This record gives sequence, C-alpha cells and structure tokens, in this order.
Amino acid sequence: MGKVYLVGAGPGDPELLTVKAARLLGCAQIVFHDSLVSHEIRQLIARDAQVLDVGKRCGQKLLTQEEINSLLVAAAASHEVVVRLKGGDPLIFGRAGEEIEALRNASVDFEIVPGITAALGAAAAAGISLTDRRAASQIVFSTFSRGTEGAAMDWGVITSTTTLVLYMPGPDYAEVAHRLREGGLPDDLPCVVVSNASGAWQQIRWTSVAQLAHEEKLPAPALMIVGRVASRKIQEITETFLGGDAKDYRALRTAVS
Ligand code: SAH
Repeated sequence: MGKVYLVGAGPGDPELLTVKAARLLGCAQIVFHDSLVSHEIRQLIARDAQVLDVGKRCGQKLLTQEEINSLLVAAAASHEVVVRLKGGDPLIFGRAGEEIEALRNASVDFEIVPGITAALGAAAAAGISLTDRRAASQIVFSTFSRGTEGAAMDWGVITSTTTLVLYMPGPDYAEVAHRLREGGLPDDLPCVVVSNASGAWQQIRWTSVAQLAHEEKLPAPALMIVGRVASRKIQEITETFLGGDAKDYRALRTAVS
C-alpha cells in the first residue's frame, strides 16, 4: 500500500511551492491535478509519472468527486507515492474533506502538504496587509458559491473591522455588489479584485462596493478582498474609522431589516 499526499500547489508561481511539494512532484508515480494547477508547476512532475487532470473544463467537471475519491484509493494500492495536487492550499475550498474521509474509510495512509492559498497570494500581489491593525481585527474567507444551502455565508460575523476575502466570485460583478450591499456593507467600502495572483497574467483592480458593478470583468481565477485594508489610502480610511464615523455593519443591518 502506498501513501496519498494531498498537496497544495500555491497560487501559480512555481517558486511559491513548498520545498516538500516540489520534492513530492519529482518522485510521484501518479499525480491527479486540478485545472487550476499551472503549466509551469506541472513541468516539475517526474517524467515517468502518470499525470491525470481531474479538474473542471469550462465549468464542466471531468469527474465527479466520488470518482476522484475512488481513483485515489485505487491508486494507493499499486503506487508508492500518489500525489493529489490542488491549487492554493488543499484545505481551503478544495474539497479535501471528502477525499480525506474516503482515504480514512479505506484505511489508506495519507498526508497533507499545505500550500499558499489564493487569498494570501492575492494580498501579496496587491500589497495589502489583511490584518492591518489600524483597520482590521479578523479575516473571513468566504464564497457565495457553495454547493449546499446550509453552508451559505454568515453575515453575522462581518463587522467594520473584518477583511472579507471572497473566493469564486464569478463573472457577474453586479450580482456580487448587490449581495455585498444586501449584507450591509457600505457603498464606499474598498474592494480589490485580483486575477491570476502571482501568475504571469496577474491583474489588480482597485474599486469599491458601489463601483464594483461597473468594473470590467477580470479573467478567472480571480478573488475579491473587501474591507478597509483594501484601500490604497488606508491612512484616510483609518482616520475616519477611528474618528467614530464608521458605523457598525451589524447595527446598520439591524436598522435596515
Ligand atoms: N484551494 C484553492 C482555492 C480553490 S477555489 C486555494 O487555496 O487557493 C478556486 C478559487 O480560488 C478561484 O475561483 C479564485 O477565486 C481563487 N483563486 C485560485 N487561484 C487564484 C489566483 N492565482 N488568483 C486569484 N484567485 C485565485
């Protein structure tokens, strides 16, 4: 029986791989990767390894999650080093939970190798301190695009000192802006869209909740950083905030409903 490594490939730049991830790619006998994993990173996979793309193509899944789980379990029976390579970190919006459960149920040995999640790659690209003490006290990684209703975003945790990182925002920015406003976020709250963070085609748009609807769409993969820290004029924003002008979003939401 071999071992399955759930490996984070980071946001795109191969130099942002961990040393361990690079080593495992070089000695794996079989690699199952997502479509988010860049070509440069796939180049690091051992030449004689079997490489299978199990990601999505134009939004269409190539394989179901159950099929991927079974493939991992089966591969461990005949290969010593099995790598399941995922963009960013495998434990952030990466469906690793289901794979871990399947491996545990089949008593397959596994190990998780963390990677740099897109939120951190994007923050680095834009030079945003996600926890800038002048304006933020917590970070929330969230998405509007969840598989199940039960896991919908909890607006109760978003306050005026929250940095919200929105994964998988989709191409409809007007809809995202609408949902952010509906959630009680003020129109002038800064919002940064980062596309292809750390990759060759990286793009960054500095905007606000109100302006977002009118922004030109950036190519996938992209995410949004929403909050006071996402302002290029953090000093100004902070002064208003400390001056007490900033409303507590929760109070604002209560007033609206
Ligand atoms: N496990 C991954 C996330 C998978 S969900 C991680 O930890 O990063 C896929 C979403 O991640 C994309 O829709 C996008 O919102 C975000 N993403 C992944 N790579 C990105 C990149 N290089 N730049 C910007 N966003 C990225």
